[in-house]
Amino acid sequence: MMIIMKTTATKEEVENVHQRVKALDLHPHQISGAERNVIGVVGDGRPVEVTAFIRLPGVASVIPISKPYKLASREFFPENTLIPIGNNHVVGNGTPTIIGGPCAVESREQILEVAKSVKEAGAHALRGGAFKPRTSPYSFQGMGEEGLKLLAEARDLTGLPIVTEVTAPELVPLVADYAEVLQIGARNMQNYALLKAVGQTQRTVLLKRGMSATINDLLMAAEYILAKGNQNVILCERGIRTFETATRNTTDINAIPVLQALTHLPVVLDPSHSTGHWEYVSALARSGIAAGADGIIVEVHPHPSQAFSDGAQSLKPKRFMRLVKQVNAISNALKAEDISTNPLQ
Ligand code: PEP
Ligand code: MN
Repeated sequence: MMIIMKTTATKEEVENVHQRVKALDLHPHQISGAERNVIGVVGDGRPVEVTAFIRLPGVASVIPISKPYKLASREFFPENTLIPIGNNHVVGNGTPTIIGGPCAVESREQILEVAKSVKEAGAHALRGGAFKPRTSPYSFQGMGEEGLKLLAEARDLTGLPIVTEVTAPELVPLVADYAEVLQIGARNMQNYALLKAVGQTQRTVLLKRGMSATINDLLMAAEYILAKGNQNVILCERGIRTFETATRNTTDINAIPVLQALTHLPVVLDPSHSTGHWEYVSALARSGIAAGADGIIVEVHPHPSQAFSDGAQSLKPKRFMRLVKQVNAISNALKAEDISTNPLQ
């Protein structure tokens, strides 16, 4: 539930509400906006009566949150959450966020070359996996810490913040030492120990939808991170499994407006894993932006045929550069025509 404080509420009255929430074994989350002072209350699912708080001094109203995910819901926080990555870019403020880079870090030459080219194309962040969760134990598993060091070198060279995957709770401190954004992969979306571990950091998390996860499952996974105190969560639609075999996955474009309606967290689209074929990546990236995505994360490789993983869906740098122009053109056209992608408007 949400406890809305009166605009005249004193610090002591707010503190008193926090104490009362804690006394009931619940967790208060303070949200202080310019106009409202709101305390979100989450617990363990036990019913809590509105009357527990409504008569406390300074309380204006108490609103139950109907959704099972509380902190992630728009009911809880109606404004879009804006998430800075690096020093120069904010995700969710209307300028499409562009994240580009290889599926995996493969060598110094490879990552530095891609980093330079995605920077030149206008990307805001560099992606690249150092720890790779592969379906087959015989596939390339990533360069590990050596890969993280190369990503850091690529950041030094280009200034681009780093997005890289963390695959296990015990790796969180190491990966958080190197990267601005911790990616949780589709295969780990319901690894609750991992979600809790990234929730205990203040690093931005890019949470990818599981390949058979519903939108509700995705939001519940985000809730794990938020409930641990990390509010910096970006959601990522990366395609889901369907009966279709012509593409690797099926891009659930529906998920973009649905998520924008249900949550205040930013949503980006991964058209690479969504389709699995480079030929379709640009079309889906464009449609994602038109549908209201806050950005895209795209796999880019200078020599896709030699890539250690996901070469078939990787764009060459030149095509990526064209795609960035197209994505910005779509975003600018929507703005020029005053077309809102807000599904609730
Ligand atoms: C990736 O981003 O390279 C990746 C493994 O993605 P996903 O978890 O969506 O399959
Ligand atoms: Mn990949």
